[in-house]
Amino acid sequence: TKKVAVLTSGGDAPGMNACIRAIVLACERANYAVVGYQHGYNGLINQEYCLLNNNQVHNLIQRGGTILQSARCHEFKTDAGAKKAAENLAELDIDTLIVIGGDGSFRGADHLGAFWSGQILGLPGTIDNDISGTDATIGFYTAIETAVSSIDKVRDTADAFERIFLVEVMGRHAGFLALRAALASSADYVILPELFDNPETTLNCITTQLNERRKQSDHISYIIVLAEKLWPGGIDNLAQALTDKTQSEVRPVILGHVQRGGSPVSEDRILATKLGAYAVSLVSKDITGVMLGEQEGKIVEVPFKMTWGKSKPLDQQLVTTMKTLMNERYA
Ligand code: ADP
Repeated sequence: TKKVAVLTSGGDAPGMNACIRAIVLACERANYAVVGYQHGYNGLINQEYCLLNNNQVHNLIQRGGTILQSARCHEFKTDAGAKKAAENLAELDIDTLIVIGGDGSFRGADHLGAFWSGQILGLPGTIDNDISGTDATIGFYTAIETAVSSIDKVRDTADAFERIFLVEVMGRHAGFLALRAALASSADYVILPELFDNPETTLNCITTQLNERRKQSDHISYIIVLAEKLWPGGIDNLAQALTDKTQSEVRPVILGHVQRGGSPVSEDRILATKLGAYAVSLVSKDITGVMLGEQEGKIVEVPFKMTWGKSKPLDQQLVTTMKTLMNERYA
C-alpha cells in the first residue's frame, strides 16, 4: 500500500483545509496511509507530522486557515535543508508528497525533487491567484468576497459623509484580487500593477474623473481600490497626494489580513476538493514534479517550473469592462 504526505506552505488561504479533507478521504478510499507535515517545510526538516484519518477531517471543509499550520522556511532553500527533508521522507517511507501552497512553495517542491525520488505533486493555494497554469487558485474566490463585503461597508460610510476613500487590497504583485474586488464593489477607480503607468498620470486621471463627477452632482462619494505593494511610498503617500490635489480629505483603508481568513466560499471548497481528490488519483501513476490546476473547467498538470516567473495575464474581458465602467469612463 502507498503512503501519502501532505503539507501546507507559504501564505495561508481559505480552502486549504477543504483540500486536506479531500486528500484524506480519497486516500482512505484507496487504502493509502496519510500523514500531515506541520508548519510547511519546517515540518519536513524537523520530522514533525501527524497521522491523518477521517475523524480529523470531520467538519473541516468550512474552516478557514489550515489545521497543518503554514510557515515560511528559510533552511529549506539550502541543499542541506532539502537533503534533510528527503531523508525524513525516506525514513517514513513516503511515496507521494502533496504540497498545497503558492509559487514559492512550488520552487521549494522543485528543489526537493533534486534530492528525493518520490512523487511530488503541488496544489495551488493562495488568495493572490498569481500562479501560472491555473485559472484560479484555492482561496482566491473567498478573498474576493471578503474584500467586496469590506468595500461595501466602506461605501456606506463614504456615502453618508460624501467622502473619498482609498482601499488597499492584497494580491502581492498581481492585480487579480484588486480587479475583481473593484468591479464587484462598484469602485470608481482601480490601480493595478499590470496597468500602472506612473504616479503622475494616475493622479491626474483620478482628479479629472472626480472633477467631472462633481460637475454632475454635489453629493458624491468616491472609492479608489489600490493593489498592495504598488504605490511608491505606500497608501499614505497616495492619500496625501490626492488630498492635496483634490482639496478633499482622502481616507486610506488597508484591508490587510482579514482577506486571508474566513470560511471558504463554495467555489474554493469545490476547487480544493476536486484538485485534492485528483492528486490522490495520481498516486500510483508515473507523474511527478507537477502542479495540478484548472483551465476552463478541466484539470491540467503543469510542471512546477511553468508555474512561476512568467506573469499571468489578467482576464482581458474584465479589463475592458473595468475601463468602460470605471477608469476611463470620464476620460
Ligand atoms: P508561497 O508559497 O505562498 O509563494 P513563499 O514564497 O514564502 O510562499 O514560499 C514558501 C516556502 O517555500 C519558503 O519559505 C521556502 O521554504 C520555500 N521556497 C521558496 N522559494 C524557494 C526556492 N527558490 N528554493 C527552495 N525553496 C523555496
